Amino acid sequence: MKPFSYVTATDLSSAIGVATAESKYLAGGTNLVDLMRAGIETPDRLVDISRLPLAEIEDLPEGGLRIGALARNTRVTADARIRDRYPLLSQAILNGASPQLRNRATVGGNLLQRTRCGYFYDRHSACNKREPGAGCDALDGFNRMHAILGASESCIAVHPSDMCVALAALDAVVNIAGRDPVPLVDFHRLPGDTPHIETVLRPGELITSIDLPPALPGHSVYLKVRDRASYAFALVSVAVLVSMEDGRAASVRIALGGVAHKPWRAYEAERLLTGTSLDEDLIHQAAEQALADARPREHNAFKPELARRLIHRALKGTIS
Ligand code: SF4
Repeated sequence: MKPFSYVTATDLSSAIGVATAESKYLAGGTNLVDLMRAGIETPDRLVDISRLPLAEIEDLPEGGLRIGALARNTRVTADARIRDRYPLLSQAILNGASPQLRNRATVGGNLLQRTRCGYFYDRHSACNKREPGAGCDALDGFNRMHAILGASESCIAVHPSDMCVALAALDAVVNIAGRDPVPLVDFHRLPGDTPHIETVLRPGELITSIDLPPALPGHSVYLKVRDRASYAFALVSVAVLVSMEDGRAASVRIALGGVAHKPWRAYEAERLLTGTSLDEDLIHQAAEQALADARPREHNAFKPELARRLIHRALKGTIS
């Protein structure tokens, strides 16, 4: 029997799983069928998981929510508990795709979607993610959409999901059948020298659900800058969640999208702001800190400043 991975994915008609002889790390994902059409992925086996009972959204005993891996994005955004307690998540999903896509895309498929790097999709280009060891044409190519944080000389692709940026800020946890839950922030990997291995999901594993911890009191903001207003991928996005107590920030969470191979939490910036009154100078310092390690390329030199301004605007939005 050839090795394979059960996965969650979404195609035109149903959620599916995928198995291949070679790509044992291959998982599903919202754009899997696109990649199959382009000949980028050529699985020799598909596993249909669409009839598994994994589409429910349930209350957890301690006050959080469990979202089934096969819950459609539309259902998640329409759920009154999510709109009331986790508006950051519904805002991010609504920013992410058209209503038609949200009607079909599942939470698990969103989690496992692959990068939209143009060189990855072009079989005539060198791409370490598509063909390990082949090189990366994006390094010296048109890299406007590419990573500025956590990248390597093997790959500078970004993770395209909006939903995952919000989940990172919410401290969500990914439940996988047969193993301990994985924090969302640890689920996706940085590229290193193995950019073809994108998550910690192992062969044969199945994502069953995502848990949201009890909602924090406070305010949240999701901002996204893109090339056109209608459903483009983020140049930079930011999810900010702030809880104030007695005029001071008891908790600050900042997550960035469009900047790295995974949703990027700005932990140092969060520490800088926690316990403070979020005054203008500190917000400015935190935004600088969040991008201190940024390494832009030729065509995306605008991203660090764009990210700083978005962080600033989002933080001010939570206290205005
Ligand atoms: Fe491939 Fe990553 Fe380079 Fe894009 S950035 S061409 S996905 S290796």
